[in-house]
Amino acid sequence: MASDYYSVLGVSREATGEEIKRAYRKLARELHPDVNPDPATQEKFKEVTAAYEVLSDPSKRQMYDLGGDPRGGQSAGGFQGGFGFGDIMDAFFNSGGGGGRGPRSRVRRGQDALIRLEIDLREAVFGTVRDITVDTAVGCGTCSGAGSAPGTDRVMCTMCQGRGEVQTVQRSFLGQVMTARPCPQCGGFGDLVSTPCPDCAGDGRVRTRRTLTVKVPAGVDTGTRIQLTGEGEVGPGNGPAGDLYVEIVEKADEVFEREGDDLHCTVTIPMTAAALGTSVTLETLDGPELIEIRAGTQSGSTRSLRGKGVSHLRANGRGDLHVHIAVATPTKLDSAQQELLRQFAISRGEENPVGQVAHGQSGLFSRIRDAFR
Ligand SMILES: [Zn+2]
Ligand SMILES: [Zn+2]
Repeated sequence: MASDYYSVLGVSREATGEEIKRAYRKLARELHPDVNPDPATQEKFKEVTAAYEVLSDPSKRQMYDLGGDPRGGQSAGGFQGGFGFGDIMDAFFNSGGGGGRGPRSRVRRGQDALIRLEIDLREAVFGTVRDITVDTAVGCGTCSGAGSAPGTDRVMCTMCQGRGEVQTVQRSFLGQVMTARPCPQCGGFGDLVSTPCPDCAGDGRVRTRRTLTVKVPAGVDTGTRIQLTGEGEVGPGNGPAGDLYVEIVEKADEVFEREGDDLHCTVTIPMTAAALGTSVTLETLDGPELIEIRAGTQSGSTRSLRGKGVSHLRANGRGDLHVHIAVATPTKLDSAQQELLRQFAISRGEENPVGQVAHGQSGLFSRIRDAFR
């Protein structure tokens, strides 16, 4: 970087946006080429403008303060790379007048489009192929995107004589200056559609409904966007099409809760089974899986099935499936069952249990919590 932008504008590094603008305005008044065309002054003006371009933009200024070069190494580029006169007027008056450079092209790139696609957990885990229907703009076949009815042509705009801009003389703090703004009659195009195409009303595009096939890779999640290049809207004047983004929305699953690429579910077993041990068949996304419940299993303990979770997106492997065991305390005991349990308690010396007290949540539940941090 050639020079320090702050000293070029003559402001401190703590200057507010308003101070920077004021400093630039003062310098521009002295140095603007429309006022003072000598080459040395113009050089100085370019430097000042480059400094203002950076310091007036909070994100560029921050980048510069951190030692970066927000102008990407370009020289104090004057009117090609940097500010045109219209931009300077914008900075001071917030007027809409952009510097004119002849008629602008009608051809522009089309807009990107976004649609949402709802999928279920199984589709997210293994990937899927889905057909989607989109409403989008395509080039009008009747006029080939030109906007004029077949057999007619665009006519030159009389207001700007085809230049696309109109010029006005303004008296300002810079003296008497000529400014150009886009022609209001033709919108800056320089010509007008005399007889609009009946099918697209002169836009050159028509809306249509299309069906597309989308390949959804394994491992997507809510918010994942799949880019379909060139499947967005065709641009004005038959310009290149934008892109279509398909944003994934994953429906909640009834059994499995997703956390990143891991899955969680809960298996509830009777107290007796927890005490004596058993095995439970769990229907996973990969088919039935036998879960061994050892004798003496505590409520809140877990079994982790490695690689039975969600596929990693753009990487090999899958997350894990964590099976949480919940032990159900029996309810609605009849008198015979109550008597059996009372006898059982006596045999364990648990007729008058005192309970074990632990600090805070440092008991069982915090261990569960910590296991999934
Ligand atoms: Zn048309
Ligand atoms: Zn015009």
